[in-house]
Amino acid sequence: MISVVDHPRLGRVILSQSPRARRIAIRVGASGDVRVSFPRGISQRKASAFLESKIAWVEHARERLAVRRAALPPALPPEEEKARIEELRRAAKADLPGRIERLARQTGLRYAKMTVRAARTKWGSCSGKGNISLSLFLMTLPEHLRDFVIVHELCHTVHHNHSPRFHALVDTLVGGREKILARELRAFSIR
Ligand SMILES: [Zn+2]
Repeated sequence: MISVVDHPRLGRVILSQSPRARRIAIRVGASGDVRVSFPRGISQRKASAFLESKIAWVEHARERLAVRRAALPPALPPEEEKARIEELRRAAKADLPGRIERLARQTGLRYAKMTVRAARTKWGSCSGKGNISLSLFLMTLPEHLRDFVIVHELCHTVHHNHSPRFHALVDTLVGGREKILARELRAFSIR
C-alpha cells in the first residue's frame, strides 16, 4: 500500500507499507524526496507520527544533499550540454505552467504571463507588469525548492522589491520556512 501526502513542511511525502520493512524507516532521495516505509502491523498514522518526530533530521539530510550537489562535476562537452538544455526545456514546459497555475490558485496571487527562459543568472524574475520569467534550470531543483522560487516570484506581483513586507508575505505563504528554504536554495547553483 502506497499513499502520497502533501506534507505542510516537507512537501510531497510517499508513505509505503511493505511486508519487507522491519521497522519504520525514512529515506531522503537524491532530489530531496521523502519516502517513509513501514511494516504491516504498523498504522499509517503511527508512521506519520514518526515522521513528525524526525522533521529536523529530514531537513538536515536535505541540506547535506544540497551542499553535495553544489559541488557537482564540471560542464559537459558543448553538444551534450545543448542536448541537456533541450531536455530541461522540454521538462520545464511540461512542468512549470501547471505548477505556477496551481501555486497562484493556492496563494491567491495573480500574474500576467509566464515565460520559460534559459536564464543562468537567476532562477526567476518578475516584471513590474506581473510577467514572470522562470529559468528552465529550475528543473534541476527538488520540487519543494521549485515551488519556493515560484512563490517568491508570485509575491513580487504584490511587492516589487525585497522589503520586509515582501519577505513577510513569502514567509507566510511557505508556512514560516522562508529562511530555511532560502538557505537550502543557496546551496544550489544554476547549471
Ligand atoms: Zn526576488
